[in-house]
Amino acid sequence: MKITPIRGTHDFFGQQVLKYRAIQDLISHYSRIYNFEEIITPIFESTDLFKKPLGENSDVVLKEMYTFKDKNEDLITLRPEYTTPMIRAAISNNLLEKLPKKLYGIGPMFRRERPQKGRYRQFNQINFEILGTHDVSSDIELIILANSFLQNLLPDKKINLFINSLGDKDTLSKFSSALSKYFREKKEKLSEESQNKIISNPIRILDSKDPMDVEINLNAPKISDFYSNEANEKFSNIQKILKDMSIDFSINKNLVRGLDYYCHTVFEFKTLDLGSQDTLIGGGRYDGLTKLLGGPDIPGVGWAGGIERLIMLMDDIKSLQKKIHLIIINESFREYGLKVANQLRKENINIHFDYKYNLKKSLSYANQLGVRYAIIIGEEEVQKNICTLKDLNSNVQEKKTIENIIKDLS
Ligand code: AMP
Repeated sequence: MKITPIRGTHDFFGQQVLKYRAIQDLISHYSRIYNFEEIITPIFESTDLFKKPLGENSDVVLKEMYTFKDKNEDLITLRPEYTTPMIRAAISNNLLEKLPKKLYGIGPMFRRERPQKGRYRQFNQINFEILGTHDVSSDIELIILANSFLQNLLPDKKINLFINSLGDKDTLSKFSSALSKYFREKKEKLSEESQNKIISNPIRILDSKDPMDVEINLNAPKISDFYSNEANEKFSNIQKILKDMSIDFSINKNLVRGLDYYCHTVFEFKTLDLGSQDTLIGGGRYDGLTKLLGGPDIPGVGWAGGIERLIMLMDDIKSLQKKIHLIIINESFREYGLKVANQLRKENINIHFDYKYNLKKSLSYANQLGVRYAIIIGEEEVQKNICTLKDLNSNVQEKKTIENIIKDLS
């Protein structure tokens, strides 16, 4: 019986794992210097947690959630995103007494999307959230954190930052009604997919890449016509600070993000190197969300980044640690060889033992792996309590005490 992986899932190994860990290390570094606390939540939650906050008509809720009934008939969903579970956890554990609360998390998310390059059904996200402040400094800090992280991780890649404002709470609903009206008048000219969204989710039509829709979108109502004075001021402020801090960005008036809970600032970091799945990090402000989830009426802002897409853009990682191939040429020297390995590993030296007990086979295997050094244990080594250290690049070999080998390799 051959069991194949589930569509849209993938295994991490070799370089992908090294890159995944490098991302984690860099994220830990940024979380420390920006003072975010890590939170780890279950991968499944009650379905109610997602339905309303993400929007009953959002693509995620309508089509993409992995929802199933537990044996006791409870509806359970594999988390499709991390902001709502993080806030749920902050509320459940009374973490919102001292504000602002800065939380981050890393882990798998699940969406039943059509798999393609950069789009999977199980994928990993990094999330940063700041709960409890309206201050635009928190929006700015999160954007700068994302920008610094991306520059550090992908120094040679061109990544563009797009920002927009969705205005106050009612801006989006007024905008949505105006869009519905506009698209109803143009219904015949829209693609079939967009026609289906006119009533349920007209904002999503703005994302369409269909040439017929793109043309009609050009003259669609603009969200900025629905801003309050305060929203306008907030957005100008953000732009001014980003300019002062020399962060390059463009305004994209069609950037509305897929989930219902956003307001005011929204942003995306995009690459030109990944084809259509080009957003690396996306985020924004979600001021009513914590209250909606049964918590205090506090604002929030955050972002999520996709680890798979970052991994696809990273250069290969070369291990800096020297790997030493242990060659015990005959089973009768096993005990001494294992003792030597033990001593070297206590000094944090990476010893790879291949259990072959055959000099020729072991050397050929070490060469195939591209290992630079081998330690060879034979009769003379055991009798004199020494080792032979061989450089497999130059083929130079020397007999040494274990202490000297440790000195050379540390
Ligand atoms: P979102 O929660 O949709 O704003 O997504 C945030 C980030 O997660 C995106 O910018 C992507 O980098 C990543 N992402 C979202 N959906 C997927 C997916 N299906 N497969 C891989 N990465 C994804």
